[in-house]
This record gives sequence, structure tokens and C-alpha cells, in this order.
Amino acid sequence: MRIAKVIVNLSLDRHFDYLIPEDLVDKIRTGVQVNIPFGKSARLGYVLGLKDHSDFSPEKLKSIISVCEAHPEIPDNLMRLGKWISEYYCCSQEQAVKALLPLAVRSGKITHKHEKHYTVKSVEKAQEFIFEKGNRSKSKAEVLKYILQHPAASLESITLETGATNAIINQLVKNDLLEEEKRTKFRSAFSDEAEFVPSIPPQLNEEQINAMKVIDDVFDRKHGKQHAVLLYGVTGSGKTEVYMRAIETAFKKDLTAIVLVPEIALTPQTMERFISRFGKMVSILHSGLTDGERYDEWMKIYRGLVKIVVGARSALFAPFKNLGLIVVDEEHEHSYKQEETPRYNARDVAVMRGYMENAVVILGSATPSFESYRNALNGKYALARLEKRVDDRLMPVMRAVDMKVEMLSSASKGSIFSRELVEAVKFRIERAEQTMIFLNRRGFATQMSCVHCGFVAECSQCSVSYTYHKKRECLSCHICGSIIKAYYKCPDCGADDIRYKGIGTEKVENLITAIFPYAKIRRMDSDTMAGKRKRYEDVLRDFKSGKIDILVGTQMIAKGLDFPKVTLIGIVNADLSLHIPDFRASERTFQLLTQVAGRAGRGDIPGEVFVQTYTPQNPAIQYAMKYDYENFYQEEIDLREKFSYPPCGHLIAVHFKGADSAKVANFADEFLERMRPSLSADILVSGPVPAPLEKAKNKYRFLIIFRGVLSKNFRTHLRENMLKIKKPNDIDYYADVDAVNLS
Ligand code: ADP
Ligand code: ZN
Repeated sequence: MRIAKVIVNLSLDRHFDYLIPEDLVDKIRTGVQVNIPFGKSARLGYVLGLKDHSDFSPEKLKSIISVCEAHPEIPDNLMRLGKWISEYYCCSQEQAVKALLPLAVRSGKITHKHEKHYTVKSVEKAQEFIFEKGNRSKSKAEVLKYILQHPAASLESITLETGATNAIINQLVKNDLLEEEKRTKFRSAFSDEAEFVPSIPPQLNEEQINAMKVIDDVFDRKHGKQHAVLLYGVTGSGKTEVYMRAIETAFKKDLTAIVLVPEIALTPQTMERFISRFGKMVSILHSGLTDGERYDEWMKIYRGLVKIVVGARSALFAPFKNLGLIVVDEEHEHSYKQEETPRYNARDVAVMRGYMENAVVILGSATPSFESYRNALNGKYALARLEKRVDDRLMPVMRAVDMKVEMLSSASKGSIFSRELVEAVKFRIERAEQTMIFLNRRGFATQMSCVHCGFVAECSQCSVSYTYHKKRECLSCHICGSIIKAYYKCPDCGADDIRYKGIGTEKVENLITAIFPYAKIRRMDSDTMAGKRKRYEDVLRDFKSGKIDILVGTQMIAKGLDFPKVTLIGIVNADLSLHIPDFRASERTFQLLTQVAGRAGRGDIPGEVFVQTYTPQNPAIQYAMKYDYENFYQEEIDLREKFSYPPCGHLIAVHFKGADSAKVANFADEFLERMRPSLSADILVSGPVPAPLEKAKNKYRFLIIFRGVLSKNFRTHLRENMLKIKKPNDIDYYADVDAVNLS
């Protein structure tokens, strides 16, 4: 084998053949990064495979220049997974490879931060020096004394402790008294302030024991090939404890584990739970890491220095070689779907990785996705249930408040809070209990318009209205991020009759502060928490210690938080998520209500939830009030079946965008024509039509949706079309397989 198949960035799924020079034969394997001549320059590429013959004659082939030995190679198991991702998600192989390695590792720009360590060459010689020359060369003697006491001391610690300069240490090395050693210093991902007390595992309750039995059976493959378990447990039922026991099972088999949580739920609280149980065996990957830290964490996994990785979506690609378990917590979360190419769903790829590497996969949720629940019902996954909260704590009492009725009452004066909710908050403040108020929309008002002429402030680049942010006195577009100064007069007619519509969290915070000026109120959304992880940690700490009475927030406060003193939840507008044009709107609303409600009553005092709605009869709201997931599922699944929507059929959305609307529409039509030969009777096609979000960042958007039985042939054909069609320069398009966002 003298030929390597190499992919380079932007090679559009093509690989190129290169000769392997004699001296590199031993070093070139699949997954290795190489330096190759490409056109007139040199480029980095990855070896996809090796072969004996090329379709090109050997004289025409160029040779690999060198192997990037300092850069880690992609392990075999991940290369295989990458190939599957590129095929299933209809993208090129190099795009899939991008997902496998963090940028910090791929780029090769970040290397280890080396640190020098020192040991004495001979103890006798060192002592001799101290005795004979100690008086004249005081500082050298001090260094030697220190190192004798602290073998392999780092340069940093020596200079700090003895006050010696680098020059003195270098002289000792030259005099053959000290030996220098370069070591990799792992930049720590944990903040220094944090202290972790080892936790003693609680005794499992009966339901948890039964769940562990199901999981152990899957570990032992008692029921044929079944390798995945759906752990369906109500909020606060102790799912995390079950995950940790399953991790211990994997350890007993000498295997490693990956735990995926939604980024938003990767709170200090979550991290602490794993670290305090497993200590230094854990590596935590979160978005707050620097590139250097990310690189270090990746290398720790690669070298087998840790056994568990806890992280968001991309942690799924942790380079473990002996993987035994993957946990996907809150498996129904849409944030597991990557919204850029490759558009993979980490939950589904986890099931595939588990299958390929013979590892167990646990999908946990209080509101399983319909996809996973269906798989559990039809036996593809095992099912473990936790129906009760830990210690028999009660589920919070759910109360629907009909805001149509509330609005008619003169006493409520058009307030966005119902009188019942206000009373309940007051009661909690008096008793030093805590409240969370949830609204999944940030900003002050979602629309600013002129009463006089009807002008609406809209983003010039996107087909949405600007959101008004009062404190910053600006209008911002939540699609493209553009910001302008807020208007105080209508820019069209000059009238100063400005009206605001549609409330966001900023306004909720203002209004609740007006009602309870003596209460301590904080807001948590991506406006107040922008970028700074520290600030986020501070608010959570203050909330935990009881310094905050009311926490107002978006979905940032909906996930994974466990604060025993929260006994009240107010959901300001439960209907928001019902009105999005998406077949999953109901499912999403049910999930959101259940998750948010689950934050209440986790301590000794039972919780109470006020769900404010204008459509109290809506099934999603009705079933959520009763915690009746099964019947909600049955009712919804009948609809999905009827219209071939997932999970009763597959769905692929193909998006097109470009500056010239007519051109984009034309191209989408042509694209559909090319797909015709592989469209069978059991595939439903909608579009091309303008996407619900018609224009974003000055690009017009069109959409084709394929659903039904999407065979492998169909996918292959689609993939070929995605990668091979010559498209006009000013048009972009991509396939979104198993799309969760249809806007
Ligand atoms: P979930 O993930 O299902 O929402 P958690 O795992 O967060 O639930 O558990 C809720 C709380 O109950 C946590 O504080 C956890 O430490 C505690 N807990 C879990 N299992 C037990 C148990 N067997 N005995 C006592 N406390 C438990
Ligand atoms: Zn915009």
C-alpha cells in the first residue's frame, strides 16, 4: 500500500490520492493529519484510508510532504462515526470530520503549554555542593535544598519558593547538578475557588433499583441486541443518581462514559454533582472554556487520563477508545441538534456511536421526545420508569389561569400578572420562600409601532420586527443581531405616539419590581448574562443562598436547576410556543410547561405552578396540567401518523437562500426536478415555498420538505445532489435531516 486517500478542507467530498514516501510509510494511518502539496501551496489534510492502486498513473501523483506528528490523529472509531454522519446527514466527509475534532485540536495552532520540572542528578553530589559551597553560593544551595525536598518541582514553584532566578537554575543544569524535564501542564477547567466535598451516594429507592436492573440487563445484552434504554422519570425522580450508578457499572467493566447535557443545563450545580462523586476522573467540556483549556481536556481524554466526560453536544465525540456508556440527559432537548453543517442530532448520533462501539446508551427525560418514546414502545429501546419524586415528594400543583377572563376583570387593570399569581408571590416573600417567573422571550417589548400612521419598526435585513430593549434604549433584531437607537418619534410621520406590544422578560422584571419594590429580584436571560459565565454562577449562588426572592428568566431558568426553596413558579404566557408554525408546537409546549413546573417543590415544601394562558382548553396545556404524558402522546401520535410527520415518517428540509428572491425560487424548482427520479409514492413533498422566516440577513429563504418513507436510495441521491450540483454563486442551500427547526 503506497497510496493514501486524503481529504482537505473544502474539497467537497472529494478525496485526493497521494503517494506515501518511503520514510513515512510507518507513520501514515487512517486519521493522521498530513501536510500535502495542493495546487501551488501546501495544505493540511486528513488521511481517510490507504490503498494499492490509484485511477491516476503514479507519475501524475504528488507525494505527501510530512506527517503532523504533534497533532493528534482521529481515532478509528471516530472516523467510522464520521463516515456515517456524512452519509446520514447528507454532508461531505470533511464537514463531518470538522464535527469530530474541536477547532482547538484541528487547527494545530494550540499546543501544550510546556512546563519545566527539575530533579537533582545525584543526591550525594547535591549535598556535597550544599556543604562545601553553600556559604558562597547561597541561592544555588537554596534551590538544591528545595528540590531535594520536592523532587520534580516545577520551575514556577522553585522560583516562587526560593526566590532564585531562571539564570541560577540554568547554571545548575549546566553544572550537571540538576536535570531538566519538560512536562505538560494541564490548564485546569475548574475554577480555583470551587471546593468539592466528596459525596456519599444515597441508598437507591425501589424505583431506582428497578431502573438499574433494566440498565444492567442491557449492559449484559439480556434481550438480544437492545443497547439503548429510555429512562423516563418525572422531574426530581433521581435520574442523575441512576446515571451515576450506571457509570459505576461501566467502570467495573473497565470502560469509560460520556454524559451529555444541554449546554444551558451545564450549570455549576450539575458539574459539582459529577465532580464530587468522581473527582479527577471527570473532564468537563463547557462553552466557557478557552481554546487552551479545551485542547487540554481533549488531550486528557485522548491519553486516557480521565474516564468520564460531561459536556454539551460535542462531548459526544470524546476520543475514548473503550467506551461503555453514553448518557443523554434531557434527551428531548432541541439543543442537541446542531444548527450548522453537519446538522446532526447528538441524541441520535449517540445511539449510533453506542451501536458501533457496543456501548450502552441511556436517554433520560421527564418528557421524552416522541421519537424515543415510540422506540421504547415498539421494543427498539428498553424502558425504565421513575414515576415518583425522590422521598415521595409531591409533584407541584398545577393551576391554569384563564387570562381572557382575567383581562375582563376591572380589578386586574390589564396587568400581565393575574391576581392569583400576585397573591401567591406575596405569600412566598412573606415566608422567605422563592419564586421563579418564566417567559420565553427576552427584551422589553417585541414590537414598537406608531399609533398615528401604523409604522412598525422592522429590521431592514430580516422579515421580523425589532425588539425593544428599554434599559439599553435600543431596538435589536433577534435574527441578525443588528441594533439601532430606539425611536422616540415615529421616523415616518413624526408623531410621538409610540406604542409597544408583546412583552419580554425585561418588562416582566420591571413590572414585578413595581409591585414588590421591597423584594430582591434578578433576571436571567441572554441579555443579562451575555458571555460572562462568572455572572451566571454568581446569580445562581445568590439564589441558592436565599439572597434573591424572585428570579425572572427565559428558558435559561427552565432546565436542570434544583433549588429546594423554590415553591412557586409563574408562567407568564404559556401560549407563546403554541403559535409557532411547526408540527411540534404542541409537543414543545407540553415539554416546556412540564420542565419549568419541575423546578418547584424539590425540597420539603410542596410547589405550586400558575400557568397563565389565553387558551386553557388546548390539549397540550390540559394534559400538562395533569402530568398526563401517555394520553397526550396517544392523541398527538394519531395526528402525526395521519400526516406522516416524525416519528411516524422521516423528515428532511432543504433550505435555499439568496439575495434575489426569484432566482432562489427558480433554483429550488430546478433542485426539486432533479430529485424527481427518486421520489416514490410514499414520499410527500411540500414546496418550494417561502420559509416562515422569509428573509434573514438580506437573504430570501425558500424551503422544500420531504417526508414519509425516506429510503437509503433517496438519501444517497439527495446527498449527491447536495454535493454535486453546480449552483449560482449567490445561492446557498443545505439539507436539514430530521429537522427540528422549520422556520
Ligand atoms: P432528576 O434528574 O430526575 O430531576 P435528580 O437526580 O436531580 O432528579 O434528583 C433530585 C434530588 O434527589 C437530588 O437532590 C438528588 O441528590 C436526590 N436523590 C436522588 N436519588 C436519591 C435517593 N435514592 N435518596 C435520596 N436522595 C436522592
Ligand atoms: Zn435582522
